[in-house]
Amino acid sequence: MTKISQPSVSIETSKHCNLKCASCDHASPWFESASFYSLDVYERDMDALTEVMDIAELVFAGGEPLMHPQFVSFLELAKRKRYAHGVTMVTNGVLLHKAPQEVWELLDGMNVSRYPGVRLRVSDDELRALGERHGTRVAIEEASKFKYMLINDTIDDPTLIQSIFKGCYSAVNCHTVFEGRYYKCSRAHLMSEILGMAGIAFENMDDGIEIHAANLRQRLETYLDDGSPLKACQHCLGSHGRERDSVQLRKLGVVAEQQDRTSYRDLLDPAAPRTPEETTRPAIMGKWWLGDPFVQQTPARDLTIVTKPVTS
Ligand code: SF4
Ligand code: SF4
Repeated sequence: MTKISQPSVSIETSKHCNLKCASCDHASPWFESASFYSLDVYERDMDALTEVMDIAELVFAGGEPLMHPQFVSFLELAKRKRYAHGVTMVTNGVLLHKAPQEVWELLDGMNVSRYPGVRLRVSDDELRALGERHGTRVAIEEASKFKYMLINDTIDDPTLIQSIFKGCYSAVNCHTVFEGRYYKCSRAHLMSEILGMAGIAFENMDDGIEIHAANLRQRLETYLDDGSPLKACQHCLGSHGRERDSVQLRKLGVVAEQQDRTSYRDLLDPAAPRTPEETTRPAIMGKWWLGDPFVQQTPARDLTIVTKPVTS
């Protein structure tokens, strides 16, 4: 049996965050209380998934990964059980000054997003020096712009939904494992919970496939080969949203954003394509610094599965 080859899989260890960015694409500011992925469930999920999938890069993303009290154990498991060829993290950097040494020792790459108005307690030079000392590739990214993405309004144009899905960066680069399911993007697994906070009933369990049911490899292949949008795409602008400045919200701003009923038409980027025919599928970015054979900027596979022999 060959394994399915996947460039990147994301793990969301915490739904919540210690920042409150307007238009956070994970809606993390909406999660007021601590909300963690259980270590045991993660291990069970990844053990089963990696029986059939060969993952180039496992990305810990947010919420804020460093908020999970067992974050080091997540990294240790990923390394010890070889869940992927490389392990990386996307962080806002706020807790990096007190990150345990093991975080640096276990990570192959770290992307630090710097938000306007948020002061980090470690300088860029210190971050780079820590990275060099521990063999962790560090990228520091100025996150001065966001795009509108999650919306309460329902997109009622199937052609537009197909176009958004086809051009969605997340649907190509951010496949996610969460609580027993594999999802084709990093938004769908939370969509019913997010809309529920706005008082909107929504159910999209079938957007992800069950990891612990029979014939996982075959079902995963069929799932990845299916070019249909997810149900969650009815409430998401993907990469088609208008840009806005990055700002930190106060409590009332979070509530206002949660309840916002702006029409999706007003939040679309006017230049974004409106039909699948006009829309180009994003490249697989390979931005997580793992180098060859995970090459940079290769064309997206356009939903064709690439297989390779099982490696021990
Ligand atoms: S740092 Fe900002 S964008 Fe990232 S998860 Fe936290 S609130 Fe969202
Ligand atoms: S819900 Fe659809 S449009 Fe939004 S990130 Fe997922 S795949 Fe992309």
